[in-house]
Amino acid sequence: MILDNAFTLLSSFYIVLLAIVYFSKPRINSYETKIYDYIVAICLALVIISFGTYYCMIWMDKYPLLNFAFSRLYLIVLLMFTFVMTVYVLYISCSDIKIIKKNYQKARLYTFLSLEILFSILFFLILVLPMEYSNVRGMVYSYGQSVDLVYTVTRCCLVLWIIVLLSRYKSVKLRKCLPMIAYVLLGVIVSYVQGKHPELLLTTSMLVFITFLMYFTIENPDIKMIEQLNIAKDQADKANKAKTDFLSNMSHEIRTPLNAIVGFSNLLKENKNIPEDAQDEIEDIIMASENLLDIVNGILDISKIEANKLEIVNSEYDTKRLLSELVALSKGRLGEKPIEFKTNFDESIPRVLYGDASRVKQVCVNILTNAIKYTKEGWIEFKVSSVIKDGVCRLIISVEDTGIGIKQENIGKLFNRFERLDMKENATIEGTGLGLAITKKLLDLMGGRIVVQSVFGKGSKFTISIDQKIVKKPTIKLDEVNNHEEEKISVNNKLVLLVDDNKINLKVAEKLLSTYGVNTESVTSGFEAIEKVKSGTKYDLILLDDMMPKMSGVETLEKLKEIPDFNIKTIALTANALTGMKEKYLSDGFDDYLAKPINKEELNRIINEYLNNS
Ligand code: ADP
Repeated sequence: MILDNAFTLLSSFYIVLLAIVYFSKPRINSYETKIYDYIVAICLALVIISFGTYYCMIWMDKYPLLNFAFSRLYLIVLLMFTFVMTVYVLYISCSDIKIIKKNYQKARLYTFLSLEILFSILFFLILVLPMEYSNVRGMVYSYGQSVDLVYTVTRCCLVLWIIVLLSRYKSVKLRKCLPMIAYVLLGVIVSYVQGKHPELLLTTSMLVFITFLMYFTIENPDIKMIEQLNIAKDQADKANKAKTDFLSNMSHEIRTPLNAIVGFSNLLKENKNIPEDAQDEIEDIIMASENLLDIVNGILDISKIEANKLEIVNSEYDTKRLLSELVALSKGRLGEKPIEFKTNFDESIPRVLYGDASRVKQVCVNILTNAIKYTKEGWIEFKVSSVIKDGVCRLIISVEDTGIGIKQENIGKLFNRFERLDMKENATIEGTGLGLAITKKLLDLMGGRIVVQSVFGKGSKFTISIDQKIVKKPTIKLDEVNNHEEEKISVNNKLVLLVDDNKINLKVAEKLLSTYGVNTESVTSGFEAIEKVKSGTKYDLILLDDMMPKMSGVETLEKLKEIPDFNIKTIALTANALTGMKEKYLSDGFDDYLAKPINKEELNRIINEYLNNS
């Protein structure tokens, strides 16, 4: 007897387990999930009623009324299962049809109303139509018009599902259809087997199996939660991207006027006719604009780091040039402060290394600038040594100062974003609290490390170590670095075409270039630039802005390259200072890249490389 009921017994175990797991988990509040709640509940009821029906049929002589109630109830719940599944199929396949979406409430009302009317009629028929029972040697089953009616309605529903799903196969995910496909296939098999052996009670087990399958393919709350999380993540990513776009646009917008401020102040500084007190004020303007530029760059960097967009771009670089730039920059930033700036560079540092020079420089500038900012008097020592092993040079860079120092309990907070220590005491020192956070992240990206030693009130020492590949062997001459004098370049009889939609930026570039003795011609659009080149004027170089209305710099360059025999070196001159921009412009066909605000050293390099052929 147990064996006849073995399938139902096994199914009951599974459905109870499923119900416990499913109902104990947090579920998302969606219509599909609500329908599935009903499906699991009905399936559970079906298993219990199925047992009742089985045992009542065995003892039907003793309990004829109970047998009548259970066997009819079983058919009614079976019908309920089919109807709820039909609602499910209609929902997953039709709810996104435009017209239904528009009149969703109405469509839902009519569907329920017609299903309820149909269900009530069938309910009545199940109760009144005749039903026979077979009980041969303990093997029981029912048959007759009432049973046939339920099976016929179920088959009709299956056909309806197939039609609906096939007609909507493009918009319904296959994963969602799988249980229905299984239902149809198993339904055919079970009908065939039960036709031959009606005593095998397979229907309940089949429905449990379908419900189980649905759990794993559609309604698993975990999968649903993950889907929801993915949607939330996509939204967060989009918001983050919007933030990054906003910041990079803002940085671009700020850089453009800054270019004019920095450019003109540098030009004024070199004008010897300006009174001395005005010279000081110009210095202040330059300092303030450099600070502003640092802030803009810092915000841009931190947003890029957070969006995982900051890339380390490795290439060969000259260590001598890097160190001399750092020394010159630091000395410039010291201003009038009574601080001795000491340098100590190891003789064994290789001349050419392979790494991201601009990021190594940025990291060093951050700690050097901090030492200058947080030291009133005394000295600052910039020390660089190297440990060479297996073709790799470990640069050990330390910056020690006799400044205000850092309290021990604050050292751990140093690398947090926007964290500034002892704000009361340091209120007059400018800063955003981003420098060290960026330094740490950049070092992480480059596989480097930073260590801080400090005695509050006495001074601090920041030590960085970064591994860089060695390219060539000759080492640095100490004197070369310390005696780094700004090279005075002068170029005559050279003509440069300047292309920028912003007239002030054109003026800055014209004036800056005129200090080298370079002649310039300026135009405000790509169209004019093309005309100028086509007219046959011999330009030695083109400085081309990218972000211009109607025709961008990149588009202009494409058109220029279509001109036969065009071979003028063209440099992207742009305020678009995102990481990887240089590489982007080079791959777009530009020969080089110059960021705005124009940096004196970079401009020197460009002039030297492209105009100074003496
Ligand atoms: P910022 O200098 O823009 O405030 P940083 O991230 O570079 O931001 O530095 C964070 C904080 O660490 C600073 O506000 C300062 O309190 C402290 N700090 C950094 N470098 C030094 C230093 N050399 N001496 C003393 N305090 C320092």
